[in-house]
Amino acid sequence: MSFFAGIDIGSTAIKIVIVDKDENIVAQSVSASGSMFYKYAKESLERLLQSVNLTFEDISYTVATGYGRKLYKEADETISEITANAVGARKAGEKFGIIRTIINLGGQDSKAISLDEEGNVTNFAMNDRCAAGTGKFLDVAAAKLEIGVDELAKYHFASGDTVLTINSTCAVFAESEIITLLGNEHKKEDIVAAIHYSIARRVAKLIKRVGLKEVVYFDGGPALNRGLVAALEEELSTKIAVADNPQTTTALGAALIAKEAYEEL
Ligand code: ADP
Repeated sequence: MSFFAGIDIGSTAIKIVIVDKDENIVAQSVSASGSMFYKYAKESLERLLQSVNLTFEDISYTVATGYGRKLYKEADETISEITANAVGARKAGEKFGIIRTIINLGGQDSKAISLDEEGNVTNFAMNDRCAAGTGKFLDVAAAKLEIGVDELAKYHFASGDTVLTINSTCAVFAESEIITLLGNEHKKEDIVAAIHYSIARRVAKLIKRVGLKEVVYFDGGPALNRGLVAALEEELSTKIAVADNPQTTTALGAALIAKEAYEEL
């Protein structure tokens, strides 16, 4: 039996999805990119294959995507993360309807992607120059608040009536604002909500550049944070679809593209 691998080497995490010829997900993983993208990607794939009793030989075609895609020498093909994200979102978001807008927040960039009814990318806007509005900002803010990124949602939903704002558009200045808020004895819960709304406002600006069409689908690691999802829904005044494994959508797209490419050989 043939299997196909999609490897998304991101700035923060390596995501791998293996699909079979019927497009079923056989295995998937998320691991840290660390400092050695190629080595860690290869080791992660090896571990993932072992976990489902497969070997490298069982993979008929591999597509690499993401920031570090060019480093994965064994890939049969590399593809832009925008294309892979679009293909993955269409599949992972099937149950929500036809995805027309993707919001992707990664470790160090944020994107808004417009799709037509057929799932083709018609427009996109990207911010990769500033850490504010990215996973990195959430990591830094959570570390400053001495909580885990996986706890941000809990804090968000426990925030009270005190509405705080973080206005800086630069992550470094925003961190100073967080320090000032802590110094003024504001509750961590209210600060977390302020961080989420500040990111939501930045995403809204990005979305404005491509135009918002429903269904809106949110992916990337920060989409695991339901507090951020709620802030985005409020800021954009729309329902936001999030798949079960939002961090692996782009890797899924790469795996599906690998399957298509193999069948066309
Ligand atoms: P990249 O593709 O650039 O490596 P990812 O899409 O993998 O980025 O997202 C990484 C970010 O996801 C991290 O910086 C972190 O902020 C966020 N993240 C990861 N796991 C969680 C979690 N369990 N809850 C909330 N946020 C998370």
